[in-house]
Amino acid sequence: MNLILFGPPGAGKGTQAKRLVDRRGYVQLSTGDMLRAAKASGSELGQRVAAIMDSGSLVSDAIVIELIEDALERHKGAPGFIFDGFPRTIAQAEALDSILAARGQVIDLVLRLEVNEAALIARITKRFEEQGRADDNPDSFKSRLKAYSDQTAPLVPYYQGQGKMIGVDGMADMDAVSASVAGAIDATTRKR
Ligand code: AMP
Repeated sequence: MNLILFGPPGAGKGTQAKRLVDRRGYVQLSTGDMLRAAKASGSELGQRVAAIMDSGSLVSDAIVIELIEDALERHKGAPGFIFDGFPRTIAQAEALDSILAARGQVIDLVLRLEVNEAALIARITKRFEEQGRADDNPDSFKSRLKAYSDQTAPLVPYYQGQGKMIGVDGMADMDAVSASVAGAIDATTRKR
């Protein structure tokens, strides 16, 4: 199962991905987590991306595509992959399709977590107060929402065109969202 959890920042992708890791043994591939780890380690990559991430802009396609390729190689044979926060541009989506094709695989399902903007802002304001993540500050978060609508939203017609996108009500409580996610994965698995 190759699943993309799709949605704006704050939609709950990370929470749902972690539940799928626990419940199904899938591997979560979060480019945001990988980049934050690089930043925290002070590596050359981390130093290169720190300011871009803090401002709420997207890092270059080449960087995240390489991270994903390396991670897929490291986790060969996993029962499933959850792409969380990747792809975020059409170029990344096209690269992912060809990386998977080279492995004889495809994206099976794209789950779009639908949450309205007021709820996103409320969630991220709370997370900023609780966790102090630099790019959750109000200015950076505005940039992240803009990056989403300018660069990531075009992936909706891309995946709808492939017949792979299913919408999930991300405003429901976490357990209800998990149940919808599970239902969509099971239905897709049965069809394969
Ligand atoms: P996230 O935790 O997924 O919201 O990612 C945090 C930040 O990491 C983003 O605001 C971007 O600066 C960077 N980032 C994560 N994933 C990507 C991606 N697929 N493409 C470009 N930048 C990314």
